[in-house]
Amino acid sequence: MRRKIVAGNWKMNGSKDLVDRLVGQVRSELASPGNGVEIVIIPPALFVGDVVRRADGEIAVGVQNVACWDSGAYTGEISAVMARDSGSACALVGHSERRQLFGETDEQVAVKVGKVLASGLDAIICVGETLEEREAGKAEDVVSSQVRKAVSEVSAGQWQQVVIAYEPVWAIGTGKTATAEDAQAMHAAIRAVLAAFGAPSEEISLLYGGSVKADNAAALFAQPDVDGGLIGGASLSAKDFVSICQAMPGKS
Ligand code: PEP
Repeated sequence: MRRKIVAGNWKMNGSKDLVDRLVGQVRSELASPGNGVEIVIIPPALFVGDVVRRADGEIAVGVQNVACWDSGAYTGEISAVMARDSGSACALVGHSERRQLFGETDEQVAVKVGKVLASGLDAIICVGETLEEREAGKAEDVVSSQVRKAVSEVSAGQWQQVVIAYEPVWAIGTGKTATAEDAQAMHAAIRAVLAAFGAPSEEISLLYGGSVKADNAAALFAQPDVDGGLIGGASLSAKDFVSICQAMPGKS
């Protein structure tokens, strides 16, 4: 059985007020958290403690990024161990905004994956092609290469901490979504890459992200290799996020 996960990435949005309102509403509207779908909120790191307290164990919390290092003179950075100590259960690694805006490389992503897993957190590894790469027919090659590099240091006992989020860059925050069929095709390709790598690919959860909304979530989540979603903009509205969570089979 693969884990079913719906995670909301707040990016650099939100406030303590939003934490109170949104987490409270999500908890009250998803009446029985834990009935098969893991709900995760990934706020700005400063709010992790607030979400942890407000979620009271019913919703998991994650961070959007960690450093390549354990500690030291790296002003502004936070380590995976610090994220874990603050109550996080997982960390995003290699989100396309980190790759594009902050120049994060495949090599850094692999190092961060190693740090996250060693700390005991789950790693939600983000991969995805640009529009240019898709139009050039290179989408699968690009994504496969990102996956292979990101998991290059994962050891045999760590696969249960690995989650992969396929997020086509052209679909993030644009209102354009991959069709359910395109998402399924890429997820199947990712699973094949993991299998070729010797990973227990059938046990690894693969999330889709990129303009997932209440009205397209059900079709995406119905695909056999789509095990959940990574939600950006729509996760900032309790109503939309709850609807998306409810679209995941197993959650009502
Ligand atoms: C994201 O930031 O991971 C994302 C998928 O954003 P959006 O849902 O807004 O496209």
